[in-house]
Amino acid sequence: MRSPRRCSRNGCPRQAVATLTYVYNESTAVVGPLAAFAEPHTYDLCEPHARSLTAPRGWEVVRHEGEFEPPPPTTDDLVALAEAVREAARPAPRPPQDDQNHPTPPPGSSSTSRRGHLRVIPPTH
Ligand SMILES: [Zn+2]
Repeated sequence: MRSPRRCSRNGCPRQAVATLTYVYNESTAVVGPLAAFAEPHTYDLCEPHARSLTAPRGWEVVRHEGEFEPPPPTTDDLVALAEAVREAARPAPRPPQDDQNHPTPPPGSSSTSRRGHLRVIPPTH
């Protein structure tokens, strides 16, 4: 999952530098800088495809005015950031299952396991 992002157009091998987002309820196609996250209704585009994009009939195109900058050569930081954010967006993790390694004895068991000269015999299986 660390390969550089490619243009999403069929057969286009170029690196994606822009992200096309369809805003359906406004009938607008937004061509902006490469999005950090892949979201529904977004398509990564290389620069020529981003520049030449035409909207479907009845749609407007809002295009990023500046230069499209390719992502920095090392995206590991960004990937790590993306993963951290994704991690944070997950539902709350279950608490660590410490008790599998260190079983907590039921209350009183330590005192009942050995009471005077009596000893609790564990049930046989
Ligand atoms: Zn392309």
